[in-house]
Amino acid sequence: MSPDVIVVGGGVMGCMAALRLAEDGRRPLVLERSVPGAEASSAAAGILGPAVEAHHGHDAGHPHPGPRPRARTILSLGIRSRQLHAELAQQLRDDHGIDVGFRRCGVMRVARGEAEEAALRDHAALLEGRAKVEALGGDEARRREPALHPSVSAAIDLPEEAQLEPRLFLRGLAVAAERAGVTFRSGAVVRDVIVEGGRARGVHVGGERLEAEHIIVAAGSWTHLVPGLELAAAGLHPVRGQIVATQTRPPLFRRVVFGAGGYVVTRPDGRVLCGSTEERVGFERSVTLGGMRSIVDIATAVAPRLAHAPILDHWSSFRPGTADGLPLVGPAGPEHLWLASGHFRNGILLAPMTAELIRAALAGDALPPEAADVDPRRFAEAA
Ligand SMILES: Cc1cc2nc3c(=O)[nH]c(=O)nc-3n(C[C@H](O)[C@H](O)[C@H](O)COP(=O)(O)OP(=O)(O)OC[C@H]3O[C@@H](n4cnc5c(N)ncnc54)[C@H](O)[C@@H]3O)c2cc1C
Repeated sequence: MSPDVIVVGGGVMGCMAALRLAEDGRRPLVLERSVPGAEASSAAAGILGPAVEAHHGHDAGHPHPGPRPRARTILSLGIRSRQLHAELAQQLRDDHGIDVGFRRCGVMRVARGEAEEAALRDHAALLEGRAKVEALGGDEARRREPALHPSVSAAIDLPEEAQLEPRLFLRGLAVAAERAGVTFRSGAVVRDVIVEGGRARGVHVGGERLEAEHIIVAAGSWTHLVPGLELAAAGLHPVRGQIVATQTRPPLFRRVVFGAGGYVVTRPDGRVLCGSTEERVGFERSVTLGGMRSIVDIATAVAPRLAHAPILDHWSSFRPGTADGLPLVGPAGPEHLWLASGHFRNGILLAPMTAELIRAALAGDALPPEAADVDPRRFAEAA
């Protein structure tokens, strides 16, 4: 049967959107130049943390008190997406026997000294009325997480945050998608999107022309390199992130811990992921000594015990960043051409909600108000 939707890219966005579209009765074909989950989606730490991530980065210099634009969108889409993850994890377990490691473990963000405590207070104020947040002194934080550094002077506990294991999740998504009727083609490099008469008709893969009613480009940090898309104003760019994996016995923390400019993610079996860097180095893939040093500094500032932990593995990949720190989800310009990209630090978190927005847009269903915040046309209008 010929496809009615072509999805370019088999990362978390492509797989998740294809699964939901197949469940909606469509026949998606996912074209992936490598294998599904080959890039950023398998490299992620797997933190499902809308509340902790709402305070990151782009709004820092925002002049107004109260909710900031990026924070508001990450919170409202992210909290719903985190709930969809809980349901999806259940679905993957019940229908396919696949455990993706979803756990509502909570996140603790810690501070050392007055400047970091001020940032913590700002963070707690941002979340007020939107997410559960508990302010703690250093002693109480260490009572809850005894491996924390003695210099931790305050913390906020965010008990609703969760984590999963991205590699298991990507494998589970691909299995579920295939069973729902999605076709995957690995090793399929999409050369361009074919646009004729103001409407997307298909794509070229090598010398082959493939056609479908809808084309969705979900090519992560490479999205802007697919010819046929007008993305200059969106400022899509790769942001390298490095991770160092280690282990402790017994497991280091119960919660994911954010502090010292990074995070430490403990899996229930004692594996620990320490991250991460944010580097504008193009598509240079190396794990570097400088990157490792900054990760070791973060990790040991959070938990001194980690200085004695063995290095098990290390890797890097590219987060798809955008000019305003928000994703590009929705119409891409020409009719029947859609984007699901630019999710920067929160692509695993936001994948279920992104798939829901894409499903609703293709079906012509009503969209929630936040759809406007991530609509790719915001850049065309700004230009
Ligand atoms: C170190 C690190 C830690 C992270 N931690 C977290 C976290 O804890 N929580 C969270 O929510 N997010 C996290 N992220 C972010 C998250 O990984 C990304 O936002 C997300 O994976 C992006 O998914 P994607 O499907 O858009 O891109 P990708 O996973 O990169 O997938 C894009 C796919 O498109 C394919 N492709 C590209 N061009 C073409 C073409 N021309 N033809 C065919 N196929 C093509 C690629 O091969 C790739 O498989 C992290 C990222 C990094 C790097």
